[in-house]
Amino acid sequence: MSKAARLSEKWFNRALWLVAFVFAWFLLGLGTAIIRDLPHVEQTYSIEDFVDHATIDPLRAQLETLQQQHTETNDKLDQAQLTLNTRRNDYQAMRRTFENWLATRDVTQQNQQDDELVGRTATLDQLKALERDAEKAVETLSKKQLDQNQAENKIRTQVNQLENDASQALYNANQKQSTRVFLYRLLLALPLLALAGWMFAKKRKTPYWPFVWGFIIFALITFFVELVPYLPDYGGYVRYLVGIVITVLGGKYAISALQTYLEKQKLAESQPQLLRREELNYDTALTLLNKGVCPGCERGIDLKDTRNDFCQHCGIGLHNKCNACGARKSAFSKFCQGCGASASV
Ligand SMILES: [Zn+2]
Ligand SMILES: [Zn+2]
Repeated sequence: MSKAARLSEKWFNRALWLVAFVFAWFLLGLGTAIIRDLPHVEQTYSIEDFVDHATIDPLRAQLETLQQQHTETNDKLDQAQLTLNTRRNDYQAMRRTFENWLATRDVTQQNQQDDELVGRTATLDQLKALERDAEKAVETLSKKQLDQNQAENKIRTQVNQLENDASQALYNANQKQSTRVFLYRLLLALPLLALAGWMFAKKRKTPYWPFVWGFIIFALITFFVELVPYLPDYGGYVRYLVGIVITVLGGKYAISALQTYLEKQKLAESQPQLLRREELNYDTALTLLNKGVCPGCERGIDLKDTRNDFCQHCGIGLHNKCNACGARKSAFSKFCQGCGASASV
């Protein structure tokens, strides 16, 4: 693109590339904004959208009631356990007192204290009975707790089963949705890519090339970068297939361009010198000469050798003599550097 020899032209070209990138950037921003504000085809599903509510709701209610009862039973059991401990301690304490009393009584042989013995034994029996009652309460509550646990587990298993089924359905629905979203985006991105291809083929050499390139960059990024987060399982195939098609088309284009160039070059080299030189672009010729390349055949030449008046590859004249002053000058320059006379005279 940049064969310009003039300094300002070079800088203008750079600025125009900047225009191309800025244009692409704004197009991308606009594209993103449009996509964001499009009517949303996506929907956020949750597991609740897929459970069988007729079955699961009563089960869940039952489970909740059971859990409440369970908590109550646990609290009651804690209390009963505490009571049991207290009564057990009471009994043990009384029993120790009784044993001490009994020992003292044996030593002193006070057999007349039988009334007191009966009284103390009765108290001990009473305490033992209370302890036994507390024990029974604990046992009953433990049994209740176990029953409730088992009932709860049974219902929980059913609820879990139903939720598992629903989560499978949720997964399927999400898969289907992401495929749909991908296809919508593909439908938007593919025409852009096709248009970019057409612009590349037909419009990239027009004076409006910065916009063409800006659009091409935009289309490529849209297709190969922005589509990526929406790729479903097979989306990779689509991307690579399109990539392959583009590469094949681009490669074919490059190959035929090379053929065309070679044919044109061959044809040009068979034409008379003056005609060939006229067909060459002045700026292009200067750029090539600066690089030590023949403007006629684009092969390397040694311009420093002052005997090199003609290209040894294609025979095009590289240096000639000024018609006015006879100085040796480049055959491509328009004016003589010695006297300023026009070369065409
Ligand atoms: Zn040549
Ligand atoms: Zn001259």
